[in-house]
Amino acid sequence: MAFDLLIQRARLAGGDGVPVDIGVAGGLIVALAPGLPASGEVIDADGRVVSPGLIETHIHLDKSRIVDRCAPASGRARDHMKRVAAVKPGFTVEDVYARARATLEGCLLHGTTHMRTHVEVDPNVGLVGFEALRELARDYRWGIDLELCVFAQEGLTDTPEADRNMVAALRDGATVVGGAPGYDPDRPGQIRRIFELAREFDVDVDIHLDVGPTAEELDVLLVCELADAMGWGGRVTVGHGTKYSCLPPDELARLGRRLADSGVAVTVLPATDLFITGRHLDHDVVRGVADANALRACGVRCSLSTNNVLNPFTPFGDCSLVRVANLYAHTVQRGNDDELAECFEMLTRQSAAILRREDYGIAVGHPADLVLWDARTSAEVVATNAIALAGFKRGRRTFTRERAVLHRP
Ligand SMILES: [Zn+2]
Repeated sequence: MAFDLLIQRARLAGGDGVPVDIGVAGGLIVALAPGLPASGEVIDADGRVVSPGLIETHIHLDKSRIVDRCAPASGRARDHMKRVAAVKPGFTVEDVYARARATLEGCLLHGTTHMRTHVEVDPNVGLVGFEALRELARDYRWGIDLELCVFAQEGLTDTPEADRNMVAALRDGATVVGGAPGYDPDRPGQIRRIFELAREFDVDVDIHLDVGPTAEELDVLLVCELADAMGWGGRVTVGHGTKYSCLPPDELARLGRRLADSGVAVTVLPATDLFITGRHLDHDVVRGVADANALRACGVRCSLSTNNVLNPFTPFGDCSLVRVANLYAHTVQRGNDDELAECFEMLTRQSAAILRREDYGIAVGHPADLVLWDARTSAEVVATNAIALAGFKRGRRTFTRERAVLHRP
């Protein structure tokens, strides 16, 4: 059997721990077995973890890397959305493209091979971001599958132009419809409109939802009702859910069963949730990071994602999903091997289920979207913030990172 690429002695993330060889030809995984005959490019993983490419299910490429042009934060004010809105009229296609490209390349270098990016179409930016990201998706197809979720950040039911822009973007190829009802004067109205658009254009739903420092007024119950009524189970995701972190375990479990029954997934966004939640308090601050492991135990599909990079919502970011999982695990106080392995699943297989990618994962016949990690188990990847040593998209190497070398005297 001839291969273009052979990765020897790889421990598969989530596998049984016995190293195998991965044979790749024509961009696909064609063989998985120990001791395959060497041909093509040969890489010896030496027992390190090889995983499928990471999946970012929730990121904002269009408003990444703008912190230097936004007004500085004033104390513990909660004006991040307004500080971003103030600079959006200055966005151009070239500007969005350049910033989004820098962020996207950072993600590639940390092992991401699939991504759903949100893109804003409020009247102060129009379709500028959408056009730039559509172009970026085409230009970077060699390294990543990038899908666009279109939404209004600054209100929809009171902003007819935002609605028209959403419709235009959905006509023009956006494959997911999103929203931010927390910034809408009519939260249920926005949620209903999003589902209307989902039905009209036959697209999946991914909404920013239930952001707040208490467990009151959960909008996800309406989302579950609409998903049930429309038969949209498995096609609906909510992002943040900081309010779920305020529920006692029995109530969280009840909510988890409801979400699982309705096929509504949850994406936890620890970086932004930690930076934004509880700013009305000056001590004993609510952290706002929902326990996705607890939701997983109820059968809810969950992912962990980056959300914001270097903007007023989160003025940090290195585009590493593994770092996000590590940050999440610290915050929800999950450190056992099985819990950390579950965190890694929420960057990979769980995320693939949210994106409904049936061709995902290390299996014969699937695209060879692979990452080699400097660790022996997927739990260790999360525990140690292990570096991604190499990545492959459809069998072609997309990056290499050397291990650090200590120069002894
Ligand atoms: Zn977001």
